[in-house]
Amino acid sequence: MSDVTIKQLAQVLGMPVDKLLTQLGEAGMKFSDQEQVISSTEKVKLLGFLRRTHGKGDTAAEADASAPRQITLKRRTVGELKVATPGARGAAGTAKTVNVEVRAKRTYVKRSVIAEEASAEPEREEAARKLQESQQQREQEETEHREQEARRQEEAQQRAREEEQKQQAAEAQRRAQAEAEAAEQAPAATETAAPAPEASGVEATQDAADSSVVQRIDQRELGMILPRIHEPRKREKLVKPAPAPAPAPAPAPAPARAATTRPAAGASDTAAPATDAGRGKAKHARGGERGDASGKRFAGGELHLSEADRARRSSNNKRGKPGRSSGRDAMRSSHSAPSGPHGFSRPTAPVVREVIVSDANIVAELAQKMAVKGSEVVKALFKMGVMATINQTIDHDTAVLVVEELGHVPVADTQNNAEETLAAHTQNVELEGEKSTRPPVVTIMGHVDHGKTSLLDYIRRTKVASGEAGGITQHIGAYHVKTSKGVITFLDTPGHAAFTSMRARGAQSTDIVILVVAADDGVKPQTIEAVKHARAAKVPLIVAVNKMDKDGANPDNVKQGLVAQEVVPEDWGGDVQFVPVSAKTGMGVEDLLDAISIQAEVMELSAVVDGRASGVVIESSLDRGRGPVATVLVQQGTLKKGDFIVCGIEYGRMRALIDESGKQVAEAGPSIPVQVLGLSGVPETGDDFVCVEDERLAREVAEERQLKRRETRMVSKANRLEDIIARMGQGEEQQTLNILVKGDVQGSVEALRESLTQIGNERVRVNVVSSGVGGITESDATLAAASKALVIGFNVRADASARKVIETNGLDVRYFSIIYDVIDQVTQAATGLLGMEVREDIIGLAEVRDVFRSSKFGAVAGCMVTEGTVKRSKPIRVLRDSVVIFEGELESLRRFKELVDEVRNGMECGIAVKQYNDVKAGDQIECFERTEVARTL
Ligand code: GDP
Repeated sequence: MSDVTIKQLAQVLGMPVDKLLTQLGEAGMKFSDQEQVISSTEKVKLLGFLRRTHGKGDTAAEADASAPRQITLKRRTVGELKVATPGARGAAGTAKTVNVEVRAKRTYVKRSVIAEEASAEPEREEAARKLQESQQQREQEETEHREQEARRQEEAQQRAREEEQKQQAAEAQRRAQAEAEAAEQAPAATETAAPAPEASGVEATQDAADSSVVQRIDQRELGMILPRIHEPRKREKLVKPAPAPAPAPAPAPAPARAATTRPAAGASDTAAPATDAGRGKAKHARGGERGDASGKRFAGGELHLSEADRARRSSNNKRGKPGRSSGRDAMRSSHSAPSGPHGFSRPTAPVVREVIVSDANIVAELAQKMAVKGSEVVKALFKMGVMATINQTIDHDTAVLVVEELGHVPVADTQNNAEETLAAHTQNVELEGEKSTRPPVVTIMGHVDHGKTSLLDYIRRTKVASGEAGGITQHIGAYHVKTSKGVITFLDTPGHAAFTSMRARGAQSTDIVILVVAADDGVKPQTIEAVKHARAAKVPLIVAVNKMDKDGANPDNVKQGLVAQEVVPEDWGGDVQFVPVSAKTGMGVEDLLDAISIQAEVMELSAVVDGRASGVVIESSLDRGRGPVATVLVQQGTLKKGDFIVCGIEYGRMRALIDESGKQVAEAGPSIPVQVLGLSGVPETGDDFVCVEDERLAREVAEERQLKRRETRMVSKANRLEDIIARMGQGEEQQTLNILVKGDVQGSVEALRESLTQIGNERVRVNVVSSGVGGITESDATLAAASKALVIGFNVRADASARKVIETNGLDVRYFSIIYDVIDQVTQAATGLLGMEVREDIIGLAEVRDVFRSSKFGAVAGCMVTEGTVKRSKPIRVLRDSVVIFEGELESLRRFKELVDEVRNGMECGIAVKQYNDVKAGDQIECFERTEVARTL
């Protein structure tokens, strides 16, 4: 294109030169004269500018214009949601399933368009602002519209009401007229048939009739008009008797027409009641269907329906006859649709719920409380590194985290009503009662063979049993002695481990610890351990330097050893009493008791004597004849026979209280141990007990605790799975050593369980699969077989049926009578130390069939050897209900009065046990031998 002047260009474009000059100026090109030549590039520039200013794209964009700039995709997903019904706190609420339809719309815009928009950033901002403004305006309009709508609706309702009233009035008037006319015509008709009663009074009567009719309508009929409107048929009938030629009054022609033009209505009426009865409420709607005036009026009446009414009506219809009602529904919806916005408003912000989190939470229930899908919670948990299915239980902390993760607020579960009531109960006792001095509770600790048992025995023998025939007949785990300085209670528990396990449960049962150290042996590892335990529990120590009667006794050695442990004797400037004693001769025992009393005085021990009792379980077991038996130490109040108590997860009414001498007592005050009967199950050592007023509360609390414990167990199972996963992640296979522990008393079992679980390293992990009190039963053996567990019997044996399972499954069952042996063996097995091991093998078992008392031999048990061989030279144990009750030696082994060395399986024999006369029929006597074997893992 050849160059042209501006003037020429203006002519070509057909626009004034001045305007072209200004446009050129705006486009950034300076031209002053119309004769100036404009180049083709400048022309293109101008064109570009003009296009931009007039909103046209360039040519390339125009070419693209036919192609879509953006694609919008719509997606519809339908899901289900379980929602807890409002008002139902926690999991107890019933669930409601809500169908959720999500319509997602996604718009994909071409990149070039975005780039273009990006280049025009300020314009976009402007556009955004405008958009916002327009949106706001729209919103405003919408609210206005809604208000208008509401107003309109109200007006419509008002109008409808007015209309109705007007019609009512009109009808009343019409009726009045009709009646008046009837009244007018009636005398006329009678005139021909019969003489008028009072011809002169006609005028006056008519007037009176007129006014009285109006009055009647005013007062009576008006009240009936409303129901009549809803019953057009009846009204038709009412109208029918009126004389046909009655001129239809102008204001309300419709009913009259209905009466005259639809004579078939009567025929249909006869058939109607049957269907009417079936359709119930749909009757009114049918009036509308017919399309007559009254129907329309009724349709107007629909506006009066409350939201709830409408919902009920529609739901009634749906439930009743879905097929038939659909048409009516459609019609009704066409009536009600324009009458206002629907009830569902889209949530504008995420709904934040308060979610009750308890100690154990089932994932599905948690999801329900948050009104999200279970899979959402599982997903969130997965992201947090916790594997759980919706049916699994997660602990409190994890639940709190996942609830927060999903944007809700976790709240603590405060529904432990029974527990709270119980707490209130016990608090009152503590606050109300008057405190008085109570006896000290003493535990004896020390290294093995330093004389703990001997010392306790000596005290018991001399203090408790003195003067009482038969002495202490039963072992209840604790007893109290009366000294010149007062009462002292001794806990006869299996030493440190039980002390620690009780402490671990928060049961501080001991006031003073007596540390027994043999004067001829000095401080040993378990002595140091005992010192540590006592110190950790902040319980004062009294050192009994035992075996002072021995030649090699060196009390100074003991003192030095203990000073190294920061236990400084009083005579060396410290605060710990050291008492030299001898459990054998009884020397210094009195001084020891005095020392205890002095220490107790210093400590000013006190407790409330009157009121409901509370305390702690120190031992428990299951007795075949008496049921669950527990030795409890009363710490506050007085426990009486017949009281209701809650004890750990068990409860019950105290059937009997038995003291250490086997006598029944009526009550037990603070610091007094008693054996109790009547509990619902065997409580655990260290469990608290409290006395409650009514049995219902006792049961509720116990049940609540049981549930909680079960749930916590389930939680721990879930964790175990995690453990395994974590281990697999490490790549190195760690062995798990499963152990099943059964023992004679709860204290030993608890101690074993605790000590065993602590054993373990990166190669071996010890896992106690089950533990309990009593002989090893068939179910124990089955469990052990299923979990490939090592079975440990501590002073208990497997019964006959259990033995069968053990044999068929080749289970490893080991019997022990010393806790340290168990721990030692398992530790060494776990650390892979192989060496020599002393193992006890049961070589023979005899069943006691009868017991004969002979003056010469004492009690002789007539037995049948049921397994292996009973040998006279070997040690024996007496078992009752699979629990070891005595360990010792055979006094004699006879077959038909002949002394023999051994008796084989299937033969009868007479056995006398040394120092033991309490053998009963049904007991078992096992004969064992100790062998040293090479240890194998
Ligand atoms: P425990 O393991 O600490 O309970 O110790 P025991 O009470 O079983 O005693 C272990 C051994 O020490 C037993 O053989 C007792 O006879 C003996 N014994 C305990 N006290 C004394 C004592 O005061 N003098 C002497 N000579 N021997 C004692």
